[in-house]
Amino acid sequence: MPRRFVTLLRRRFPAFEQLWLRFPDSVFVIRCESDGRFVIEAINPVLAGVIGRASDAVAGLELDAVVPPDYLAATLQHYRDCVASGEAMTYEETGGPAGTEPRYWQTLLVPASDESGRVEYILGISRDVTALRRAEASLRDANEALEQRVVARTAELEHANRRLTDLATHDELTRLYNRRHLFELAAREFSRAQRSGQPLAALMLDLDHFKEINDRFGHAAGDDVLRRLAIALQGALRQTDVIGRYGGEEFLVLLPDTDATEAHRTAERLRACCAACAHCWQGRRINCTLSIGIAHFDPARDDRLDNLLQRADMALLRAKAAGRDCLVVAA
Ligand code: GH3
Ligand code: MG
Ligand code: MG
Repeated sequence: MPRRFVTLLRRRFPAFEQLWLRFPDSVFVIRCESDGRFVIEAINPVLAGVIGRASDAVAGLELDAVVPPDYLAATLQHYRDCVASGEAMTYEETGGPAGTEPRYWQTLLVPASDESGRVEYILGISRDVTALRRAEASLRDANEALEQRVVARTAELEHANRRLTDLATHDELTRLYNRRHLFELAAREFSRAQRSGQPLAALMLDLDHFKEINDRFGHAAGDDVLRRLAIALQGALRQTDVIGRYGGEEFLVLLPDTDATEAHRTAERLRACCAACAHCWQGRRINCTLSIGIAHFDPARDDRLDNLLQRADMALLRAKAAGRDCLVVAA
């Protein structure tokens, strides 16, 4: 009964006619032939608009005459599944004219069976959800882009934070700890020695006659000596030792868990390292020596870090008085 199915309904019920004409989604009726072919029984005006063909022109045509080849196999499979199951089913499909951006449809198929139970017709409704899917896709893209920006910004911030921490804790010229951070670390080592009873040595280092180096070679040469010497001194210490720039050409070294013999040996290594450093500035050789005052943490005398540092400083003055380029241990 081609076309009669819908035609009858439309004639019998004017309200159905209105529904058919005004329904905002695509509506279609497919006749299921007993040989397995699917024939278009009727399509509503919305679907006619979608496929760009008049309803009357496609009524009576087989599916492959209307559905674009790219989507035909999937469409046939859905219809066959519906016929086989005899149950209503929903699915999402892509479609649209060949060579254009695919469109997305949410489709409901309802089988209509005859008295014997054979599925005679499939009634279908397809809702175009392309705008929704495209909006979702662009939202997803925007989110991904935003996430990438957040990741990049976080990395930049972390980098900036590391740089700030570095600037706040290190001396610009020598890259050693600056005075403020040096005192923090020294205070930490001092407390630790107080608690643990482990030895701690403080070495106060001062370059000898450094003013003369500036005067003879220029301030830039003096800077270069300080920079290179800092690297050399650091290289002569253990990872756990602390070295920082105490003042202009003065450095403070803390040797945790280090007894007197070992501290003396380390101080001598630093002195020798400085004396052996061959600085070359614009083809001229710069010699530089170091005086060192050594103080060992004594719980009976050093109730504060200041005491220990003062004793190291006094020992340094004595090293200067003793002729420089030497070590003196605090009394
Ligand atoms: P002494 O053996 O008694 O320590 O003599 P000295 O010349 O090293 O001591 P003094 O305190 O008279 O002079 C220290 C010099 O160190 C003077 C100062 O310009 C120089 N100095 C301090 N900081 C810097 C710096 O960052 N760069 C350069 N080039 N020189 C510096
Ligand atoms: Mg000095
Ligand atoms: Mg000096």
